[in-house]
Formats: sequence, structure tokens, C-alpha cells
Amino acid sequence: MPTLRITNGRLIDPSQGIDQVTDLWIRGETILGPQSGTQADRVIDAQEKIVCPGLIDMHVHLREPGREEDETIATGTAAALAGGITSVACMPNTEPALDSQAADEFVYLQAGRAGHANVFPVGAITKGRQGQELAEIGGLVEGGAVAFTDDGSPVVSAEIMRRALEYCRMFNKAVLSHAEDLELTRGGVMHEGFESMRLGLRGMPAAAEEVMVHRDITLAELTGGRLHILHVSTAGSVELIRQARRRGVQVSGEATPHHFTLTDKCLRNFDSNYKMAPPLRTEQDVQAIIAGLKDGTLEVIATDHAPHAPEKKMRELDQAPNGIIGLETLLPICVMSLIEPGHLTWPQLIEKLTINPARVLGIDRGTLKPGAKADVTIIDPKAEWTIDPNLFRSKSRNCPFAGWKVRGRAHAVLLNGEVKYAANGRE
Ligand SMILES: [Zn+2]
Ligand SMILES: [Zn+2]
Repeated sequence: MPTLRITNGRLIDPSQGIDQVTDLWIRGETILGPQSGTQADRVIDAQEKIVCPGLIDMHVHLREPGREEDETIATGTAAALAGGITSVACMPNTEPALDSQAADEFVYLQAGRAGHANVFPVGAITKGRQGQELAEIGGLVEGGAVAFTDDGSPVVSAEIMRRALEYCRMFNKAVLSHAEDLELTRGGVMHEGFESMRLGLRGMPAAAEEVMVHRDITLAELTGGRLHILHVSTAGSVELIRQARRRGVQVSGEATPHHFTLTDKCLRNFDSNYKMAPPLRTEQDVQAIIAGLKDGTLEVIATDHAPHAPEKKMRELDQAPNGIIGLETLLPICVMSLIEPGHLTWPQLIEKLTINPARVLGIDRGTLKPGAKADVTIIDPKAEWTIDPNLFRSKSRNCPFAGWKVRGRAHAVLLNGEVKYAANGRE
């Protein structure tokens, strides 16, 4: 089998505590390790670059089946590769919802056909995401579901959430919580506070998230189930997760780049590209999320990539759907908001984008251990570029960072030992 040597790079693999300039050897589809010696069939020079496990984005909406005008599995995974991401977990709020073994199998089939990034389906907790009746968790696991959520919506019934945690525990799968009290957020378009009052827009209070984070932590404690809080957006949620982890509750937390970069002040121009659920919060919340990332309370960074076709997203603010795309801006926004101000080191950032989400999902990725699948991302941390959504591979353009001058991007991306994306070569 052909061998590949990636040379001169700064090899960072938090799963093994590696951070040093050394070679990485690959044979066929498999990592050999940083050994030196024999002649390689092919050499990639990674001078001044970071070589790390392929990035994992565990919170992505691929929209297929049902809303192919927004995104497809093929376009979403092409966008992932361009963003340096080799594996995504896709959310089940498709039409129909991913609530059956056949739906899982469809996702794997389409991802295989596209041949871009790996896709790991997340199954729905309830049938049709209606919140009434548990989905067939066992069948979904059989079909390859790696976790469970009704994301897009919360699980309104505490009793159903309790049973989901109990059931998923039997399969050692995490339950991913979209924490929102729908009665408290009804009609809201942004965070409830000074800015919403000033703009005369209906707000969604931080408490709408926090009461549900509190409920789900309490249920995780009751059941011994594994809980992951998606898109943590408030200082109060960060503190609830911090305290629960101290008590030994099995709860992990996730932050999105937009929630640690933007605030509700952005809504002053009434641009729907700043409308999402949970909403952008205050500077104090941004600082609390960064503190949570620093002290390990928030283990995972994920994009919540939520594509919407332009004709939908360009409606009036109160009519426009929630969400923004994020796959192709993940790296530079993390560099700008976390690395350059010194909040996280590169190994700390990469840990939250590789081995930590791999552990939450229980997938055998996010590591460069010998024998692992050779999914590798080579990052150019210094590359300067201007974000232009018109150049994105995603089908949608709902990006709040258009025109931003940024640093850092994927230089090359390998999947199973094969170069699938190269910034210079454009494949
Ligand atoms: Zn959500
Ligand atoms: Zn989501």
C-alpha cells in the first residue's frame, strides 16, 4: 500500500498530548504515526502549518431529505471539507425526520455517494419530532445513529426526556438537548434585554434556555444518562453545567462560534443573518462562554450550520427562519475570537474540534493514534482572506461574517488517506 509522509508540520493531537514539529506517516487509509525512516511514496510539505486530526463538527443541519433547496448532503459535506472538517453529525430535523433505521441508512448512502466528509446521523428522540412518542431508538442505533435529539425543537415533556435518557443510556448514546422553553420564547426574534427594548422587538429571555438546561441536568442526574447541551448561549447555562459537572453529572456543553463572537447589538441593523435560536446574547454572556471554554466546562465547539435559501432568509426579521451557516467560517472565527486574544491555545482549540466531540458521539475519529483512519486536517493558521459567501460550497448564503478580513483556514484535508481538498490546488 502506498505511504504518505506529511513533513515539517506542527503536529497537534490532543488525544495523545502531542504538540511538536514532526512527520506524520500514513499507509493507505491508516495512520502509522510520527515515525521516521523509510522512503515515502508521496510527501506533503506542511512547513508553518498545523497538522491535526480531521476536524469534527457535531452539530450540522444538512437539510436532506426534504429541503434540498437549502442544502444537500453533497453540498453540505463539500462545504465541510472546505472548512477543514472531515466528519459531521447531522441533525434529524429533516422532512421526514430521521426517526427510523431506513432514514439513517439513507443518510449513509447519500454521504457515500457524495464521497466528501463522513456523515454520522443523529436520530430523532420522538417520532416525527412531534414530542409525543419515543422514536424507535433501538432501530436507529442499529442503522448507525450516533446520538439522539429533537434539535430545532426542545423535548417539551419532561417525562419523555426522562425515558429518552434512560433508553439511550442502555445503548451508551448521548441525548443532545436543544434547551428552550417554547412558552417563554413565543414570538421572540432576539435576546430579551436592553437592546430588544431599544429596538422595540420581542425578546427571548435567557431564562427560557436556563430552565430547560436545569431540567435536563436534573433528569440526567436522576437517570444516570449522558446529556449534551447544544449551543449554550447564556452565562447562567454555563454556570449550571459547571456546577453539574462538579457534582459528577454526565453532562457536556457545546459553544458555537457566533455565540462567542457576536452580541445582540448586531440586530440594530435588523439583518436576519443575526437571527438564530438561541439568539445572540450580551457581551457578558459572550465572556461567560469564553470562560467556560477556557476552564473546560464547554468541551465542544460546533457550528450549528443551519442553511436557509436566500428567498427565505431575506424576509422581514419576524418572518425569517432562525439560523446561520458556519462550516466554512469555523476556523477563522475561532482564530479571531479564541486564539488571537489568547483565550485558548491551539491544542486546546483542536481538542474541542476533534477528540472531545468524538467522545460525546462515541465515534472512532478525532485522533492520529497509529491504526486510526487517516482523516487529517492541515491548517494554515496565518492565511489571510476575506469571507465571501458567494464563493462558499454550501447552497445557502446566510452568513453574518461576509466581508470580514480573517486569518486561518484549511490548507489541505485528507479523508481515509486521500487528499480531498487543497486550498491552492482547488482539488
Ligand atoms: Zn437547536
Ligand atoms: Zn441546530
